[in-house]
Order: sequence, then C-alpha cells, then structure tokens
Amino acid sequence: MKYYLIIDLEATCCKERTITRDKMEIIEIGAVMIDAVTLKIVDEYEIFIKPILNPTLTTFCKTLTTITQDDVDEAIGYKEALADFKKWFSQYDDFLFCSWGDYDKSQFLQDCKLHGVEYPFSDEHLNIKKEFAKVQGVKPCGLDTALAHVNLELVGTHHRGIDDARNMGRLMPFIVK
Ligand code: AMP
Ligand code: MG
Repeated sequence: MKYYLIIDLEATCCKERTITRDKMEIIEIGAVMIDAVTLKIVDEYEIFIKPILNPTLTTFCKTLTTITQDDVDEAIGYKEALADFKKWFSQYDDFLFCSWGDYDKSQFLQDCKLHGVEYPFSDEHLNIKKEFAKVQGVKPCGLDTALAHVNLELVGTHHRGIDDARNMGRLMPFIVK
C-alpha cells in the first residue's frame, strides 16, 4: 500500500466507568497520513464531534483529553463529521488503517451502528501496538512507554487524538522495517 492512515480517537468516558464501553462515543478524530516509503507525515486531520448519549463531558474526560465542553458543543454530529473525514482520506488511495490497539476500530464500528451509517474502511486494520511489541521484542505497552523505549519524547498532550496520532507517526520507523 502507498500510505498508512494512523487514527486516534478520543471518546466520552468517566473515572468510575459509569459510561460503559457500549455507551462511549467519539468526541475527537485525530489522524495522520504517512507515506509508506519515506514514513513521513504527508497530511493531518482533526475534528471534534458532538456526542448524543452523554453530551456533557465529565471532569475526568476533560482532564484526560484536554477537550473542552465548548469544543464538543460547537462541534458537528457524527454522521456529518464522518462524511468530512471520509472526504479528507479519500484524497489518498491505497492506505492501511492503523491504530494503537483494536479500540479505535471497534469504537468506529460502534458509532457507525449507533448512527446508522456505513463503516468507512475495509476489514483490513493494523494494530501497531501489537506490531511495535513484536518488532521491538517488548510486551504490548502504552504509547508513552513505547516512545520512551526508543528514546523519543512525547510531543503534545497524551490522550489528545491529534497528538497521539502524530506520536504514533513518529514511531513508524520503529514498527515498519
Ligand atoms: P487514548 O487514545 O489512550 O487517549 O484513549 C482513547 C479513549 O479511551 C479516551 O478518550 C477515553 O474515552 C478512553 N480512556 C483512555 N484511558 C482511560 C482511562 N484511564 N479511564 C477511562 N477511559 C479511558
Ligand atoms: Mg488518544
């Protein structure tokens, strides 16, 4: 393939898990498009999404992600946001959807079902958390631990979609050999 599309989602959440996994909703899509040959970022995308099941963000969620209530209040809904995201990534043909773990893929599937829209990707997905562990000979770990393992500083804010996606992009030379 020509590109790696690295996606990191942030979602509604709470400390006490009162928002159960099946009720979590995407509030941010952060993504970077990586050239598969140079492994450099060629484009970036970020959008906030207004959640419908739990429209008021918990203090825990705002602290974890740095996403504000205004960010989601002023945001568009999932269906429109997904269409905008699709328009952006459709400029690139032949990419592989990558994310840190399987969470992001399953959250997309869940939100698509909730809003009655088609899942926008093929079945193919690369779990780069697993791939990093395999290539580096370590146990599957968090993004912050992975960056530290290869002596890279975490740039931006961890648990912010766009920053997580950029940091994963910086790990690609340590994942794809
Ligand atoms: P991440 O990509 O690691 O920033 O996590 C994606 C989403 O998973 C976050 O936006 C939260 O909804 C949820 N999440 C991550 N870490 C936690 C945690 N420690 N407790 C509850 N939810 C979490
Ligand atoms: Mg994240």
